[in-house]
Amino acid sequence: MEPLNDWRDDTRLTHAGRDPASHGGTVNTPLYRASTFVWPNARTLPDYLQRADDPHLREHIYGRNGNPTTAAFEDAVAALEGGFRSLVMPSGLAAIAGAVLALVKAGDHVLVTDNCYGNARQLFERVLPETGVEVEFFPPLLGSDIAALMRAETRLVYAEAPGSNTFEVQDIPALARVAHAHGALLVMDNTWATPLFFKPFVHGVDVSIQAATKYLVGHSDAMLGVITTSEALYSQVRERVRLLGYIAGSDDAWLGLRGLRTLGVRLRQHQRSALAVARWLTARPEVLKVLHPALPDCPGHALFQRDFLGASGLFGVVLRPVPEAALHAFLDGLQLFAQGASWGGFESLIRIAHGRRRFPGALPDGPLLRLHVGLEAVEDLIADLDRGFARLRT
Ligand SMILES: *Cc1c(COP(=O)(O)O)cnc(C)c1O
Repeated sequence: MEPLNDWRDDTRLTHAGRDPASHGGTVNTPLYRASTFVWPNARTLPDYLQRADDPHLREHIYGRNGNPTTAAFEDAVAALEGGFRSLVMPSGLAAIAGAVLALVKAGDHVLVTDNCYGNARQLFERVLPETGVEVEFFPPLLGSDIAALMRAETRLVYAEAPGSNTFEVQDIPALARVAHAHGALLVMDNTWATPLFFKPFVHGVDVSIQAATKYLVGHSDAMLGVITTSEALYSQVRERVRLLGYIAGSDDAWLGLRGLRTLGVRLRQHQRSALAVARWLTARPEVLKVLHPALPDCPGHALFQRDFLGASGLFGVVLRPVPEAALHAFLDGLQLFAQGASWGGFESLIRIAHGRRRFPGALPDGPLLRLHVGLEAVEDLIADLDRGFARLRT
């Protein structure tokens, strides 16, 4: 579909990754469940295999390399991210592991932001060193001063903005400039903003990953990841992640496509409600600090204003120190904020978060909570928290 490049994001969300004319007129790309695609005859096999390897064609030959449903999801995400092409993955963590393992080899040095997603941190701390890759963490707000850490062997800088739990916003264009000047690549986790609110390839990112489990799927009912790369890196990353055996299930990719159709309206509502809750929290006496990138207290707020197109529904709150029993009474009595892992679904969540860091930041001392503001009426959410604070005080 030609106009895709000119369309605005809401139009892309509605039309990317589907082509009724190719599917008997059905509005949605059907769910293809397939391991095997048969080829026409023995004589054409060599040609067929070669075509299957061509990144510009979409020939399906075996389920582990994708099928029309996963390809439709990949096309839609690539159009939104502004990268060359995307690769569907079975989870967000698989997308991180796959992208990193595709780009580094023994002897390389990688620089990782200190506020990266917790399981990514464990991957970098525990798995990468065993493959002969040296990992060094850097403070998230380092910006262009990262130049002092670059070495001849530095192959990759790994960023996440805003970072998990502590929400520091990184200077992605500065990291990209320095990485590229030293012959290294910039990989970024773009899960929080989604490509609607941050355009990674405009800001110099080479490989963007997303936990599609969160906003893209958007309904807390599937695990899904996606890697998007520049044209120069696509073939290498595709070959490596498929050799590592990574592919997502068709049902989950289909749920990702379904989720994309409403991503724009959902995300704008998450943004509005989360900002209302965050502002209400800033005025509460029980609260020390609200870590929301769109509020001035958040480290890197100026970078957020410069580079981001909006804020999603996930943010942090530091409470004044309270006895554990009071904190638990606050949390356990909430009716609308369930406590659970993950985020990005239609429903609100809250959890005690950990900002374990190598470089202690400017976080005040007190319990750190992470809120995901869902699509409930914001007045009901605020009333729920208000009753929670009454429990906290007694
Ligand atoms: C959840 C999350 C991931 C991992 O995604 P999964 O689908 O749970 O594997 C990666 N990055 C961020 C920022 C996340 O919040």
